[in-house]
Amino acid sequence: MDSAKRSRVEAWLQYGNDLGLGPYFVARTESAVSSAHASAPTPSTSMNMAPAAKSSAKSVAAAAGSVATPLSSSKSGPSLPIISVWAGPTLFEAAERVPGETLDDIRADLGECTRCRLHKARTKIVFGVGNPKAELVFVGEGPGHDEDIQGEPFVGRAGKLLTQMIEAMSLRREDVYICNVVKCRPPENRLPDKDEIAVCSPFLLRQLAAIQPKVICCLGACSAQTLLATTQGISRFRGEWFDFRGSKLIATYHPAYLLRNPPAKSEVWKDLQKVMAVLGLQPKKR
Ligand code: URA
Repeated sequence: MDSAKRSRVEAWLQYGNDLGLGPYFVARTESAVSSAHASAPTPSTSMNMAPAAKSSAKSVAAAAGSVATPLSSSKSGPSLPIISVWAGPTLFEAAERVPGETLDDIRADLGECTRCRLHKARTKIVFGVGNPKAELVFVGEGPGHDEDIQGEPFVGRAGKLLTQMIEAMSLRREDVYICNVVKCRPPENRLPDKDEIAVCSPFLLRQLAAIQPKVICCLGACSAQTLLATTQGISRFRGEWFDFRGSKLIATYHPAYLLRNPPAKSEVWKDLQKVMAVLGLQPKKR
């Protein structure tokens, strides 16, 4: 690395240290590095692959550029300062976390949000609903018309189908937590824009960190692509397990898609059965 680039990286990492997020920067010799790598735990990334999902999960992560790879140093070159990336959250993850905060704290911080243009047409902010200690969290895309009016996620037609899905898993709506990537309705039910997702998704990440569910089930491409930081189509990785910050994450089709395409229900039911197996649930007896 040339010295200008190196100085920029060092300054950035030092900034992390100064904020108390480190240590991210440790000057070590090469020999110390090779032994550090030999004993290093799995790097902390926004998406670590579960063994069962390794091959396609890897390609999802590669598309996102989100896999932390060990930094290697040339054997013959000079001793270089080494960037330690193994322990703790990344700078970006750490910046999103407020240790010990509750869902109420996060809601209070969101306030009467005007951070993006979606606030202009909304009726109510749709923060999320359900059990703050849920083992299972469903993450949708964004509120629709009914949700915007009522201030509760998944209460319209797609929501009724989601409720049926939850009940088929022998759970009740109040057992799980339900939220969305964006908290305000996009006009005409359009997809949320990238900048709207960028502004709102830190609140979702904080909700997930506060709940620490066993399983996160992404409903549809928007939430799956946001949390997995990928642009790949959902059908490429639907039904596969990912590790997401201590939770297991699975993506399935959105209930609104199922309303338009009922034959896909059997695929979704297969995905939900995987979730049930992880949570030790038996299907509801009819
Ligand atoms: N679709 C979503 O993604 N979320 C809702 O809350 C309702 C419909």
